[in-house]
Amino acid sequence: MTDSVKKLALLGSTGSIGQQTLDVVRALPDRFSIIALAAGENLHLLYQQIKEFKPRFVYYQNKRACLVKGDYELMPMDEMACLPEADIVVAATSGKSGLAPTLAAVKAGKKVALSNKEALVMAGAIVTAEARRHGACILPVDSEHSAIWQCLNGETKARRIILTASGGPFFRWKKEQLESVTVEQTLNHPSWKMGKKITVDSASLFNKGIEVIEAHWLFDMPYDSIEVVIHPQSIVHSMVEYADGSLKAQLSYPDMRMPIQYALSFPERLANSRLPRLNLSQMRSLVFEPPDYETFPSLKLAIEAGRKGGTYPAVLCAADEVAVDLFLKRRIKFTDIPRLLEQVLEHHSAVAQPTMEEIMAADAWATEWVLQLAGAKP
Ligand code: MG
Repeated sequence: MTDSVKKLALLGSTGSIGQQTLDVVRALPDRFSIIALAAGENLHLLYQQIKEFKPRFVYYQNKRACLVKGDYELMPMDEMACLPEADIVVAATSGKSGLAPTLAAVKAGKKVALSNKEALVMAGAIVTAEARRHGACILPVDSEHSAIWQCLNGETKARRIILTASGGPFFRWKKEQLESVTVEQTLNHPSWKMGKKITVDSASLFNKGIEVIEAHWLFDMPYDSIEVVIHPQSIVHSMVEYADGSLKAQLSYPDMRMPIQYALSFPERLANSRLPRLNLSQMRSLVFEPPDYETFPSLKLAIEAGRKGGTYPAVLCAADEVAVDLFLKRRIKFTDIPRLLEQVLEHHSAVAQPTMEEIMAADAWATEWVLQLAGAKP
């Protein structure tokens, strides 16, 4: 192994992004190696990953289980996020569990390939300020933010960001039709294969709303300069407009391994035969249209929470996490998700410039509120 091999600490190795990150490492073994793996509950898969990638450090959340002994040390995830030996920390855990390790990595001045959304949405002001203070570098992994980052490369300040959204499985559906959609219909995403929570969030367009908040923090762009456009083919991953009116776009086949690899290889681009190539002559058309905010109120609610700032985005994320879980358990309807979000945001007494403790308190408050509103708790 030479010095040109980047050592990765992968947090959330058994999730969708974690598995695809390992596929990039598998394809480019002379460029990347795994020094640490952290996973949640899927011990069977983690064990296979340990055998294949031979990390020196391992973390797993399932306290009751006991992993087969091997040539590795157990290490808490927050410590793994600061590992001096790691060249890049890949923050791919889902939900608010990604917040603490992301913050730890940023405070340690690491390069963080960030896939976890909650870190920037719930605590964007704190995470970006700490990154500046400690010289940490946040490398976006989300396809849209990677596209914007690629379009901004070598440019001076952009005037406007245009985030594309596939529109999900209910693109062009009407409000009444959404009342009776099933979990199966919701999980049947037309262009991306992802985890369950984000697939539901894509169907409701909530995901696009929180991506607006992420773009605001990542690229220091005012909300008025971030536009959402529906693009069902998911080929243009986002666009950036400059002062002269010129638009730059990044196009590729919808495959998350591409933005993952770019974050890991930046500033280099590496050939990877596993990545599919776009064949433009086989493409009949690329369609763009404005989103339907009436039918998909979660999009508007998320952007509004971002604009209001303070603890609103944390409340939004917590409420959505509970509401989506209740929907997946078939306890509430798909259209109840935005109803619950709206009610909880209305009742929240926000803190304007919250500390981490105040953010976590808002999160706990919102979790409790949604469970009560949904009647899921006595
Ligand atoms: Mg995305």
